[in-house]
Amino acid sequence: MTIRLSGGVADSAGIVVVGGGLAGLEVATALVEHGTDDVLLIEAGPGDDLTHIHLGLPQDGATETVFAPENDPYFQRPWESDSTHYTGISGLRRRLGGRSLYWHGVILPLEDWALCPPWWPSDVVDDLTKSWRGGASLYERVTAELLAWSSPSPAGARRLHRFGGQDFRALPRACRHPAGDGRWEAYSPLTRWPTDDDGVPRPPTGLRVRCDTEVLAVDVHAGAARGVLVRDAAGEVGTIAADAVVLCAGTVESTRLGIQALTAAGALAEPRLGGLADHIVQGFVVRLPEASEAVPPPGSHYVPADRGTRSYLRLDVHRTEHGDTLLDVRVTGEQLPNPDSVVECAAGPGLPWGTRIRTALLPADRRLVTAQRDALRVLWRSLAEELRLPAVPLEFSEYGDPGRDNTRVLPSRTRSQATGVPETWTSLLGTEDHEGGSLPLGGVLTSRHEFAKLPRLYAAGPVVFPRLGAANPSLTALALSRRLAALLAAAV
Ligand SMILES: Cc1cc2nc3c(=O)[nH]c(=O)nc-3n(C[C@H](O)[C@H](O)[C@H](O)COP(=O)(O)OP(=O)(O)OC[C@H]3O[C@@H](n4cnc5c(N)ncnc54)[C@H](O)[C@@H]3O)c2cc1C
Repeated sequence: MTIRLSGGVADSAGIVVVGGGLAGLEVATALVEHGTDDVLLIEAGPGDDLTHIHLGLPQDGATETVFAPENDPYFQRPWESDSTHYTGISGLRRRLGGRSLYWHGVILPLEDWALCPPWWPSDVVDDLTKSWRGGASLYERVTAELLAWSSPSPAGARRLHRFGGQDFRALPRACRHPAGDGRWEAYSPLTRWPTDDDGVPRPPTGLRVRCDTEVLAVDVHAGAARGVLVRDAAGEVGTIAADAVVLCAGTVESTRLGIQALTAAGALAEPRLGGLADHIVQGFVVRLPEASEAVPPPGSHYVPADRGTRSYLRLDVHRTEHGDTLLDVRVTGEQLPNPDSVVECAAGPGLPWGTRIRTALLPADRRLVTAQRDALRVLWRSLAEELRLPAVPLEFSEYGDPGRDNTRVLPSRTRSQATGVPETWTSLLGTEDHEGGSLPLGGVLTSRHEFAKLPRLYAAGPVVFPRLGAANPSLTALALSRRLAALLAAAV
């Protein structure tokens, strides 16, 4: 199957970056910081509002925008799903900034039991964890930079807090509170851009940005990527020539573009790629009847994941507007890479190809769901004893039940929650927004982030992770985006 591109050459660039979210902005910004001077970033959504939602809106409004996406004009889900997973709040935030304007800034490195050969290529592991170009490792550099950018942690946040039989430590977050009014923003590569007189970020020299322009396909000629086919807001279609193309359109969209391109190159027998994974997350929320000294201070705390549980434990302590305390307890675990968890396209003459997601849990993932629930029950019994609450049993519904998903933590729901009674929930896959794995380094991609069967085409974002681990993906996605930018800058 060949994809016939139509439309004249509208533009050209040395490097085209597809998608202006967390990974695309990081790749493009790092490229020009390395001195590359002809980078074009193409973003499907608009670019007139570059404010993080927790800076633009009060806490409850921002949370409702995330969890009730019908309230978010930027929300878009360009795929269908064959199950309840990858539905609901699972989707893109189609705007310049992408989900870097929504994320919570949690920056954890992948655990060494997941970030290791044979899953991950050893050169990538070494660059992330040991040394990058003879200096500190990528994890060390990026973590130090993000924490230096962030506001200092609240007093005492660095201490260990023993609670419910666990030693909680402060969860590292790349967040700052610029106005001191309780609102905050998480790091976005946009914060590295120069600003105009009104404080609005403008692309640095060497980087051009085209918003409201959707990439329909990668232009493939003679077995290599030569540019992209785009459609602008007026419906005009054109081709943009490039020496290299980097897919950063979010996991599912990048995989769709990769499937189309590999098919056009004759390098993929069926229009589908496996390995799609998200985190398996469940928890409970409980409102405390009175303040207790036993509870750690307001903020985010965690207990790291080990090889056995493949899950980390997180505790968020909130003081509500009524002066009481809300505990939001969750475990975040790894869904293992699975060839039967796929992004699948309906090949045809029209572009873009329709995209469908099929998810599947391995037996080990099902055991993890059960083990997480057992761990939450043990923790709840211990907390209840410590706080002298009745140990109401924690009941969970069937995995994948949309009636009891993570929208349980919405302020509109927790506000009316009875005190001392825990409400359990289980996220649908895809709704943690940590989806990745379908263009893995050392598999579909070489360890230099290039498609093994399609030269000059690259990818960045969680989509390139061969294995997810339990940690939130963005620290690793940012570090790998820097790595790719350095490799590309040296190559052009
Ligand atoms: C509420 C929330 C909280 C989160 N908190 C954390 C956290 O604390 N820690 C953490 O590690 N992660 C967190 N995440 C996840 C993190 O935000 C994502 O993993 C990350 O943004 C993915 O980066 P990306 O660049 O791959 O995708 P995105 O940031 O979604 O960027 C993709 C971009 O590509 C554009 N695009 C898509 N298709 C096309 C196309 N065809 N043509 C042109 N452009 C296109 C989109 O419009 C979008 O701007 C959170 C996510 C959410 C929503």
